[in-house]
Amino acid sequence: MNLVNEIRSGFYSDFLFKCKMCNLEKKISSTKFVPDSNWSINKAAVSSSIAIGIGYTQLSELFLSLIIMLLLKLKHRMQQKIL
Ligand SMILES: [Zn+2]
Repeated sequence: MNLVNEIRSGFYSDFLFKCKMCNLEKKISSTKFVPDSNWSINKAAVSSSIAIGIGYTQLSELFLSLIIMLLLKLKHRMQQKIL
């Protein structure tokens, strides 16, 4: 199966895969959807930001810095494997 599309929605993504043999398409989400409670990672992020008294700008800055730290850690690990 090949990844043919990614649809980002806040903190999660839906990945669309397509089979090379039969063209069957399958969507896989990066987070579990819970229809009974209508709970999502996006709602969790917003609820948590409200609970700690920050808004959208601060939440964006926080996650941007976390992603940068994660990328730096991955780059460091990759360089360790090379050496
Ligand atoms: Zn197939």
